[in-house]
Amino acid sequence: MAELIDFYGRHLRYVRISITDRCNFRCSYCMPAEGVECLSHADILRYEDISFLCGTFWDLGVRKFRFTGGEPLVRKGLVPFLAQLKEEFPKMKLALTTNASLLDRYAPELAKIGLHSLNISLDTLDPVKFAEVTRIGSLSDVITGIRAAVRAGIPNLKLNAVLIKGFNDHEIGGLLRFAKEEGLLLRLIEFMPLEDDVWSRERFISGSEILAMLPDGDAWKVEKRGTDEDGPAKYYVNEKTGDTIGIITAVSDHFCEKCNRLRVSASGKLRMCLFSAEEIPLAQMIRNHDKAGLEQLILESIKRKPRCWDDIHDGKQHMSGIGG
Ligand code: SAM
Ligand code: SF4
Repeated sequence: MAELIDFYGRHLRYVRISITDRCNFRCSYCMPAEGVECLSHADILRYEDISFLCGTFWDLGVRKFRFTGGEPLVRKGLVPFLAQLKEEFPKMKLALTTNASLLDRYAPELAKIGLHSLNISLDTLDPVKFAEVTRIGSLSDVITGIRAAVRAGIPNLKLNAVLIKGFNDHEIGGLLRFAKEEGLLLRLIEFMPLEDDVWSRERFISGSEILAMLPDGDAWKVEKRGTDEDGPAKYYVNEKTGDTIGIITAVSDHFCEKCNRLRVSASGKLRMCLFSAEEIPLAQMIRNHDKAGLEQLILESIKRKPRCWDDIHDGKQHMSGIGG
């Protein structure tokens, strides 16, 4: 069986697929206030095409797929699609990243199909700040969604918060308490410089600064670096309370040398690196279900996966369009 091994010897076994570029929020660090120009429906991959794509990656050794967006749950038919994919490939690990605003409706079905893990993005527990950062979101919908996911018994629930100086850096203790009470693992994420208009060094907090800001100071001891399985977070355990927290340092202490992931946009463009502008259009071959051609194109493309993001970063990307 052909495997996805890039020029630097990295095995690529994890693919993140954007289900849609549309979103019901407009998070200020992810997209501009006016939103982004959306793809037309004709340009978005159909579910049967995504299924074909996943099957092709499966045959190339990819074992885990994360569905993201935009907001994946705004696209109709996502849950039946995931159920069908799981039926076709029972050993495939299916994961989802969501803003949780629609989880109340979908959590029981997601639990039933055997979702492997669910990442929920929530940066603040202050309803006013939440409305401000998401521009149109409601915190209570998100909390209702989180509770529905816990109640439904979805495994491996993580709460991801992007830390931004002057916005939510004083909320770490509150987020930690909330995650513990609700039964989720909190991960704090460095603000990534995808868009120069939005990101600034003054607002950036590095992983080591985040660690120093945790309540209980020195009680946090590093447990492990995340594996292929649980992503690039470094996990810390509080020796006093037994709590665990993850810190994701994509900027200050990147994990490029261990990167095992690829991304595919909602219109079927393969992206070797989150920060790279290079995209390989796969849509034609996917739509034609040309499996041999698609495998060949993917195998050739991955040879160009960059060594490291700071070799290629141009500061002109919107996370919502790439699929974070
Ligand atoms: N809408 C879904 C959500 O919010 O979870 C999935 C897509 S969203 C683009 C995926 C993740 O990217 C979210 O956790 C969001 O916080 C994160 N994100 C967006 N822009 C970011 C940035 N500049 N730096 C770090 N994380 C970012
Ligand atoms: Fe939408 Fe997620 Fe981006 Fe917020 S972070 S605008 S919820 S895609």
